[in-house]
Amino acid sequence: MSRTPEKLPVAPSENPVAASPQGPCGEPAAPAAPFWRTTPLAAMNTEQWESLCDGCGRCCLVKLEDEESGAIAYTDVACRLFDVEGCGCRDYAHRSEQVEDCVRLTPEAVATLSWLPPTCAYRLLQEGKDLPFWHPLVSGDRESVRAAGISVAGRVAGLEDQFGVFELVERLVNWPVRWPRGAKGTGRATGSGQRNAGKRPSTLRR
Ligand code: SF4
Repeated sequence: MSRTPEKLPVAPSENPVAASPQGPCGEPAAPAAPFWRTTPLAAMNTEQWESLCDGCGRCCLVKLEDEESGAIAYTDVACRLFDVEGCGCRDYAHRSEQVEDCVRLTPEAVATLSWLPPTCAYRLLQEGKDLPFWHPLVSGDRESVRAAGISVAGRVAGLEDQFGVFELVERLVNWPVRWPRGAKGTGRATGSGQRNAGKRPSTLRR
């Protein structure tokens, strides 16, 4: 989910960091490494940071926290601002004002949030991993997120204001914290060609 479509990812060919057409003697130069392999999260500019969000929408699903154990579980119910059709936030610019517990991702937050999906680019890079082959910055195609089974598109039961607390408990699912079969390869392995999110765990006390 990313929420909104305001910032589209920059394809590798458009990435100034990646452009390196010729070596000093005119020979073809090896392409420079893409920015996400060379730039720490904390050093990225806004465009680079926003382009990391693949728009999967997983972090916009309502999460329940067990008060006793602290365990956090996903539901297949989305934030009330979520656009189920477009798979994004309907008011990304004002999400924090609209949804009080919406979490703005920052490098500091990414380092501490335990509930980011394992497929999330921010989490992957924070853990020193590479982007997978289906990430739009690698594939050059945002549809590859759906094709790889990462997007929540078609899997959202509804928005949170349609469910009571006890109904939410009936909506617990595991797929948002799992990798779909065959989705783990990286762009480096396949050799193919590249927002922030408000994510919030809702809490359930029991
Ligand atoms: S912040 Fe991560 S989990 Fe949320 S939509 Fe973007 S890539 Fe997906």
